[in-house]
Formats: sequence, structure tokens, C-alpha cells
Amino acid sequence: MKKAINLRISGLVQGVGFRPSLYRLASSLHLKGRISNTSEGVIAVLEGSSREIEEFLKCLPKVIPPQAKIHAMEIEECSLQNFRDLKIEKSEGGEKLNVDPLPDLAICRDCERELFDPTNRRFLYPFIACTSCGPRFSYILKLPYERESTVMKYFSLCPDCEKEYNSPEDRRFHAEPIACPRCGPTLSFLDHLGRVLSERYKAILDCAQALQKGAIVALKGLTGFHLLVRADNLDSIVRLKEKKGRKRKPFAVMFKDESQLREYVEVNEEDLLLLRSEKAPILIVRSKGKLPEVLAEGLNCLGVFLPYTPLHRLLLDKIDFPVVATSGNIAGEPLIFEDNEALSKLSGIADFFLLHNRPIVRPLDDSVIKKRKYGHIPIRRSRGYVPSPIVLKKTSGKCVLAVGAQERTTFSLLIDNRLIISQHLGDLDTFETQRNFERIIKDYLQLYGVAVELIVSDLHPDYFTTKWAKGYAHKLGIPHIQVQHHYAHVLALLAEKGIIPERPILGIAWDGTGFGLDGTLWGGEFLLIKGRNFERLYSLRPFRLLGGERAIKDTKRVALSILFEIFSEEIKHFDLPFLRKLSDKELNILFHMWKSGLNSPITSSIGRLIDAVSALLGISYENSYSGESAMKLEALYDEKELGSYPFEIKDHTINWTPTILGLLEDRGDLKRRASRFLNTLSEIALAVAQRVGITDIALTGGVMMNAPLVDRMEESLKRDGFQVLIHREIPPNDGGISAGQAYFALLMDEFARTDIYSPSF
Ligand code: ZN
Ligand code: ZN
Ligand code: FE
Repeated sequence: MKKAINLRISGLVQGVGFRPSLYRLASSLHLKGRISNTSEGVIAVLEGSSREIEEFLKCLPKVIPPQAKIHAMEIEECSLQNFRDLKIEKSEGGEKLNVDPLPDLAICRDCERELFDPTNRRFLYPFIACTSCGPRFSYILKLPYERESTVMKYFSLCPDCEKEYNSPEDRRFHAEPIACPRCGPTLSFLDHLGRVLSERYKAILDCAQALQKGAIVALKGLTGFHLLVRADNLDSIVRLKEKKGRKRKPFAVMFKDESQLREYVEVNEEDLLLLRSEKAPILIVRSKGKLPEVLAEGLNCLGVFLPYTPLHRLLLDKIDFPVVATSGNIAGEPLIFEDNEALSKLSGIADFFLLHNRPIVRPLDDSVIKKRKYGHIPIRRSRGYVPSPIVLKKTSGKCVLAVGAQERTTFSLLIDNRLIISQHLGDLDTFETQRNFERIIKDYLQLYGVAVELIVSDLHPDYFTTKWAKGYAHKLGIPHIQVQHHYAHVLALLAEKGIIPERPILGIAWDGTGFGLDGTLWGGEFLLIKGRNFERLYSLRPFRLLGGERAIKDTKRVALSILFEIFSEEIKHFDLPFLRKLSDKELNILFHMWKSGLNSPITSSIGRLIDAVSALLGISYENSYSGESAMKLEALYDEKELGSYPFEIKDHTINWTPTILGLLEDRGDLKRRASRFLNTLSEIALAVAQRVGITDIALTGGVMMNAPLVDRMEESLKRDGFQVLIHREIPPNDGGISAGQAYFALLMDEFARTDIYSPSF
């Protein structure tokens, strides 16, 4: 008996070879019908005998492509239309999008094999791609996902490519990004004045030679520009640092293969799995110290990655040294992704340009992940991860836009049960990054075809995002709500874990600074989370940031402020290395600032306390980039050191005076003192957790990028029977704030019916 079924599949199903897989299975069973992409996902109407249909449904789970993530699958019987054949149909456009564009994918094993196979027609072709690899999110002009709605529409398929594209047996059947040397994008190598020196494969050879000689090359990659320079040559690195105006911020390094990688850094199988995955992030791992120290001054780690595109692969194949591959941008500006902008803005930095003519539609920085003893910490979620949504258990009634904080900004869209977090958009301190933020929001709203109904921001009145949200809400006449910064940090973690806080959770939000409900700067918080409310249970004893923002960069000021709290004016007579860096006049001015509180806001930030200790110990006196002092202190951590310093908990406040006294009295070396200090922080967390007595503990905030600290906290809390939640997907730093804000909007709805008390924000 003949039967017809209607199959609807939504989720990450477009751009992964889903339709071809369905086609191959259906065709092997002689089914007839139509398979298509719609804005709802993949849809198929298939007809055949009941036995064949049954067989199809049985085999279906086995043919789902590995990159696909299915959110929902509906199968229902429908009436027969008596199709004569089986076809993949052109997509229908739709209004609201229920299908998620796929993130950009690193080169797959099959394409890599073909790339180096002299008999293959794509031998050494830098734009080889297939259904499992190549550009996705960065090259989509609109949705649904079809070749015609990507930048590949500018390259018409040659007969050979067309044949592959149309034959169900081929692994490039309906692979949208495919191309070949005859019909696809090409490379060119240019000098700093923009004059073309060579093209095609010769461009790669010339580029390799230039790098060999120590030149700086701006390379147009998959999702934006990189600046490359050889990583084993001190002069070249210093030259790039100077030209980029980058004082001490570390550079990431790309290695040609695993064996080269193993020479320079410590990696295990799990790390390699991640580095080789289709996400291909930068992974921060322990360095063996064989490369110039200026790459990561004062740190024992290095950000490393493997060539993730055929272009990078071909280039690194021609050189025998690792290369620095850092974001191609001007300090304080967004990542460059267009040829003209690169040629004009990077001409003062790069000696040469390696360009190609496949346009990039939206820029994405490389993602960054940090290794720790028990897993990986997400630091920057961008290429390879974005825009994969976090799928929530509950559905939001409205489309929510959450705009994040000020540093490491991302925004998030909440559409139904999908939390879509944007790529990393940097610090919104300059006109350029602010315009970029607006531009990318507009891009997402257009791509997903949604209209914002609710906007969520931070509480901080001076954040660009807060002011922008206010203006945008006013313009559209939609409500704007504000969520406290550290509460948002905790909620980001709960969103990631799919937890609706029906039971109380203790959020440990240790951070830089965020605007508190009392108008002071918070950052060492123990928050009780329940329903859509939170309560500040414990926090760090506050101190002053002498000179406000200036103290965040000049960390001597924080150290001094802490010492004033303990010793008042007396400390002027102490013999501490960092005091020698300040003149008597400066000391007097800062003392008066502390005493009067002039331009010296109060904070309870643990991030700033760590900065103070880093300066007190003479490890780092300045944050030339965010987190520098803390990272240098972290680099001294010794796992074998079990000691710690005393602390005091009184009236819901953690007093650090005994800790600082212990630190000053300790005559041990820097390693011991740095380790004991971090151990103390871990013990503070445990002591408070024991007092509070709530089983579920959420560890969040920028301080949770400190690998040994998170390891220690996890160990000691678990040993004591606590359930510990730790970030794995969404960064614990401010890159996760927008996700937490959006999640608040969902909780607000969720608890609206049961909850009478509503907080004042
Ligand atoms: Zn491939
Ligand atoms: Zn072709
Ligand atoms: Fe924060």
C-alpha cells in the first residue's frame, strides 16, 4: 500500500548537508517526493510503500549529519500527491526564521586530503569546501540558506562543479560554498601600496617567502583579517607590537600541525580534539618557553591554534616556523573584513597583503578558550560557535534584545526558546566599536527577520549600551528593563545549564567592577538567586578606587588604597617595592583622595583586590590590557602549595585585612605568596558556602577566567558536597552578560504568575 509522509525538522539543519543526506536515503529506498529548505527548517514530503517509508524512518537517525543540531522533528502522514520523481527543491523565503544559520566550519579531513592530492582537480586550491566545511555564517547574505543567498552567487559554477552539486552520490551534492580553480575565488598578493605582485598559488609562495624574511602580512581569512609575522623572531614580533601599538597584550600563534604544536606547548588528546574540531578555536595552554617571551610577557601560557582554512593550511605548509596570527585591526577598532578598509587602515602596519575575492559579509574574531585542569573555560565566543543558539527549555513570548555591558561586549537575541549570542564586539569605548555594535545588531535583526519587543541592558548609567538601549526603546516605543551586572553573570551561567531557579542557588560572582543596587561598584558578591529575584548575602569589604577609572589601569593605586584602609598614613614609612614607584607628593595627594573620597568610588571587587595584591607583591603595577595583573599573578600559581592566609567573615562582609597582613608578613618567594593568596580566595568561597548552606553554587564573573582558582574552588566545594556550576559555553566574563540579561526577560515571564514581589530594577 502506498503512503505519504510530511517531515519537518528545525534546528541547525541548513548548511550541513541535511537535504542531500535525506535525498540519498530516500533515493536508496526508491521513495518519491520533494525535499526543501524553508524558513521553518528542512521540509520533506515523501511517498512510497508503507514498508519503504517505515524503513526510511528507521534509518533516518543514522543519516543525520554530525554538525546538525535538531531542535524539533515532526512527522505526520499526509495525502498522496503521486510524485513521479524525487527532487530537492529551491527554498521558499519566509518571514520569521526558525532555522539557525550554521557557524563557519574549519576545513574537513576529506577536503584536506583532496587539497594535497595532485590528481584532484582542487589540488592546492585555497577555497576547497564541501557540505561539512567552509564558510557559513560569515558569508550568508540572507536566509534560507541557498547558494544564491550567499556571496557564492558572484561565482557561477563551472560544468564540473555543477555536476558535483547536482549528483546525489557526490559529497558536494548541494554544498553551497563549492568552487574550483576554474570557477571560484582567487588569491592575490599585494605590496603595502596595494600593487598586485602575484596571483593564485604563486601568491601563497610569495607570501611564505615574505614571512620567512620577517615581513608583516595582512591576510584575509575566513571571517576577517589576520596580521601575520613569524613567531620565532624577536625583531619581527617587536616590530608588529610597535606598529599595532600593543604594549604587552599577548599574541596568538598558529602552528602548521600537531607535531610542531607539541614542540612548543603542552597539549593532550582532549586539547587536540578541540583544536582540530570544526570550531578550531584559539586554545590557551601551557607554553614550553621556546618562543620569544614578548609573545606573552610574564605569562606561562600561550594562545595557540591550527590552520583552519585551506588557505592557512597551504601557507603554513610552505614555512617551517610558527606564525603570530593576531586580529587585523587598529587598536580600539573592530576587526577589519573588507579589502579596501584593510588596504587603507593596515597599510601602515603590514608590508604585504594576501587577499582573495570572496567577500566576507560579517566579521567574526577567532574564539578563545582556556585550558584548566578539569576542562576548558570559554573566554571569547565568536567564529565557529556563533550563531549556534543556546536552546532553552522555556519559550519566551516576545523577541528580546539584550545589549550586554561595556567591555568584551556581545548582544543577545531571545527568539522563542533560542538564545542567540552575537560574536565578540570588543570594548565599546570608541566611536568605531560603537557604530559597529549598532551595525551588527541591525544585521542580526534583518537576517533573522525579527522585530524587538523588549530591550534589556545593564544598570550602569554610563555604559554606552545602557544609553543606547534607552534611546532605542524610546525610538521604538518598547519597554526597557535593566538588570544588575553580577546577577546577569549568574543568570548567564543558569541559561547555559538550562536551569530555572525554582530552588535557591548561591551565585558567586567575582568580577572586575559592575554597578551595584546601592550605586557603589560591586564585584565580590555572593548572591542568593531565587525565582526572578536575588539578594546580596555576602560581599567583600569595600575599599576605594583612587582616581576611579585610573586605578583600574594604575594598580598601585588600589594597593595603596587597601594599605590606607589598614595602616592609614603610617604606610608611607613602609619599605615596599611598589611604594618606591610613587613620589612623596603623589603619596600625599593619593592619601588625601582616600581620606576625602574625592573621585574615589567605593568597590567590593575581587578583581581589583587581585590587582592590588599583584602590585603589592611587585608582580605587576599596571593593567596595560584587561586582566594583565591578574594573569601574571595566576602564572605564578603552584599547585603543590596548599597554604593560605587568614580572613574574617563578619556582618555579611569578608574582611581582607588578615589576608593582606599575612601576605606582607610572609617571607616566602613570590610563587608561594601568589599561590597562598589564591588559595585564600578559594577558602573564602567555601567558608561562605558553608554558612549559607545552599547546595547549588554557580561560579561566575571575570575572575572565573583564573584557571587554578576555578580548579581549586571546584575541588574544595565538591569535596564538601556542593553542586558546582561552571561556565563551559558562555564566557564567565562580560561577554556573557547579554545572555544573562536576555535570560532574565524569560524568568520575568516565567515567574510573573507565581511571584508577587518584584525588584526595583
Ligand atoms: Zn570539506
Ligand atoms: Zn568549478
Ligand atoms: Fe562583569
